[in-house]
Amino acid sequence: MNSVRHISAFWRRRSLKFWLATGMLLALAPISLLSVFGYLLYEKSITRPLIEVSREQREILQPLQKIQLSLWDMSRDVIDYSLTGENQHAHSYRRELDDITQGIASLSQAVGVYESTSRDMVRLQRDWDELNRVAGSIMTAPPLGVASLASQRIQGFEAGINQLGQDIGVIFEDVRRENERIHDIALADFELSELLIVMGFALSLLFAGIGVLLINRSLVKSTDQLLAGAKRIAAGDRESRIAIELPCELVNLAEAFNLMTDRIDSQEQALLLAARTDDLTGLYNRREFDRILTNEIGRGARYGKPLSLIMCDIDHFKRFNDSYGHQAGDQALRAVAATFRAGLREVDQACRYGGEELALILPECDAGGACMTAERVRQAVEALKIRLEDGREVRVSLSLGVATYPEHGGSYETLLQSADGALYQAKQQGRNRVVVWRDSGMGTLPDSAAQHSG
Ligand code: GH3
Ligand code: MG
Ligand code: MG
Repeated sequence: MNSVRHISAFWRRRSLKFWLATGMLLALAPISLLSVFGYLLYEKSITRPLIEVSREQREILQPLQKIQLSLWDMSRDVIDYSLTGENQHAHSYRRELDDITQGIASLSQAVGVYESTSRDMVRLQRDWDELNRVAGSIMTAPPLGVASLASQRIQGFEAGINQLGQDIGVIFEDVRRENERIHDIALADFELSELLIVMGFALSLLFAGIGVLLINRSLVKSTDQLLAGAKRIAAGDRESRIAIELPCELVNLAEAFNLMTDRIDSQEQALLLAARTDDLTGLYNRREFDRILTNEIGRGARYGKPLSLIMCDIDHFKRFNDSYGHQAGDQALRAVAATFRAGLREVDQACRYGGEELALILPECDAGGACMTAERVRQAVEALKIRLEDGREVRVSLSLGVATYPEHGGSYETLLQSADGALYQAKQQGRNRVVVWRDSGMGTLPDSAAQHSG
């Protein structure tokens, strides 16, 4: 497991250059090797045997034919000279003698490479020496005329000619056999080379495929992933992150991209929060209050659940400001907001409705529950000691009006009016208290079904 992780980390660190080079090398190496190997094989099986055969042709067969022809000419000249004693036969005899001697000398050099032929060549040389001696004795003796035909020397000469003819035939046969051997080897090599070429071609295709796959995997696929990821993020999907494994350059690019997305995401979140909250108190602002209340009423209507709204107003806040200054008023507002946040359920939402008026939205909470929460909040604010910058400790109190959906209002407007009405009643009744909406009889809230007293 460890080694697998190690290997993958190793490969992941390889650069784009490495993957491109490896891919290209894999794709090209078998073809290059095939051509080098094919050339060597071709050289060994075709070119060299061809050169060998043509060398034989030039250095062995041609001289051999010439010797044969000269031998017949010499035979004719020796016999003619023995019959007629004419000088022209003696001249041509000497010329042919030189030709044959020279031919045999170069032949024995040429066949030196073949062991069996060398042996046959020794015999040819020996028989030639013997024939030469017999011919010499005929050419130096006086011509015998027709009687010469029956003479022993002439018969011995003819036998020598025949013998030499046979020797030449044996060497011809040697060369033919050697040719056949070379041909067989060449044929076998040729068949092997055909097989190797087919295999090499298949291997080349395979490796070229692997090379292309490697380039595809390291570059094309990763680039596509990068592009797709960038498109997703550009389209606003802030959850999306780009995961690329190869090559390291694109991995780094993807990481930089992900980091950028993280930052954009957190900046967007901060902006969103700033747009939804109030700077001074940190509570949701009026626009967010409208949105939450509308949503919660919709949810309450869908699931048949109650929902309570508490409108809160700091008592005599104008007087507070006048007495302690506007900054102290701000401080008091922040302290009251902090008390709200501390005393509420997770699902309850505290908002700044405007000025020193705050609102609490309590989902799935009936009038009784809302009344208890309101009273708890009221008491907490009442108990709150606000220490001003000059060291004085001051207090504020809160009036709260409670209205519950759907009994005190079936819509945003009517629920808000009921809660406001309850708050108004709390103020009327002397402040620092909780009042649950109850119709005052002025008939302003036609859809408020039930009435409670605080
Ligand atoms: P009541 O008990 O009837 O509510 O009397 P009140 O004085 O609180 O009511 P009024 O509406 O007459 O005055 C509200 C005051 O709240 C006026 C305004 O100066 C003050 N106020 C509103 N917003 C802020 C704020 O952000 N900071 C400060 N320091 N004061 C604010
Ligand atoms: Mg007010
Ligand atoms: Mg007030």
